[in-house]
Amino acid sequence: MNWISNYVRPKINSLFSRREVPENLWKKCPECGTMLFHRELSDNLNVCSNCDHHMQFTPRERFTALFDGGIFTEVKVPEPVADPLHFRDQKRYPDRLKAAQKATGEHEAMLVAEGEIGRTPVVAAAQDFSFIGGSMSMYVGNAFIAGAERAVQMKRPYIVFSAAGGARMQEGILALMQMPRTTVAIQMLKEAGLPYIVVLTHPTTGGVTASYAMLGDIHIAEPNALIGFAGTRVIEQTIREQLPEGFQRAEYLLDHGMLDRVTHRKKLKEELVSLCRMLMGMEPPVAGDLPAPPAEPALAAPEAPAEEAAPTPKGEPKT
Ligand SMILES: [Zn+2]
Repeated sequence: MNWISNYVRPKINSLFSRREVPENLWKKCPECGTMLFHRELSDNLNVCSNCDHHMQFTPRERFTALFDGGIFTEVKVPEPVADPLHFRDQKRYPDRLKAAQKATGEHEAMLVAEGEIGRTPVVAAAQDFSFIGGSMSMYVGNAFIAGAERAVQMKRPYIVFSAAGGARMQEGILALMQMPRTTVAIQMLKEAGLPYIVVLTHPTTGGVTASYAMLGDIHIAEPNALIGFAGTRVIEQTIREQLPEGFQRAEYLLDHGMLDRVTHRKKLKEELVSLCRMLMGMEPPVAGDLPAPPAEPALAAPEAPAEEAAPTPKGEPKT
């Protein structure tokens, strides 16, 4: 019995547990269906290597890729009043918040950070679509304003990555009030003569599109991002007309003058660095790092005399 319980059973258990493969190692591209290995996908900035589809990118992942060496400092955001309307749908609002915090590991739907990109100091804010649809809440408003105030204080450009389904319904009118609040914050940046750049990511809709996402000095979008105020179906039903192909997509909006650029995620950092430096009147960016000094001759030179010199001190005390 001892032999079975002490040796055989653990052996069998270890055989079975070894076969359990973590489910999140592979991710399916929602556009072309290719299975992508998670590490390969994160190395590729969450862009499908087969069809170039730009997948969801959390603020933390984005900042790690954006800031030099992945180093950034979070900007502190003042905490708003919790659940002022005591809103309840299928769940109580505080429970919904807690579930989102647990699922994303983030405190709220916007992350604000400061640091350097391409040796250019900036303040950046990014919205998290995985956190209750990136919805604009009082916290998001506070975060946006905290970022703008920090940018003015440090005299830095302000870059915002938008992603939202609109205003957070659980906060009602208080969420909608973030539209004028953020507009005032942008005015503050303009009065300070600082650039405000918006990067619209998939999807940016509702109140966010109707406020801070469309008030930038420059509007850049990621390829194929959905950007609009109301949904296509709502517009079609209202105007009773068929809308054109690709309506509300980044490329369509670029053609119709709503955007300045549509930029691939891999080229985004480079473009933001150039824009920030240009608008701040700084020197042009250094293209890439300086090449390393030639290794071989430099290494060979100090080694050779060291080997020759080594025996002499040892020899000297003997004589
Ligand atoms: Zn794909």
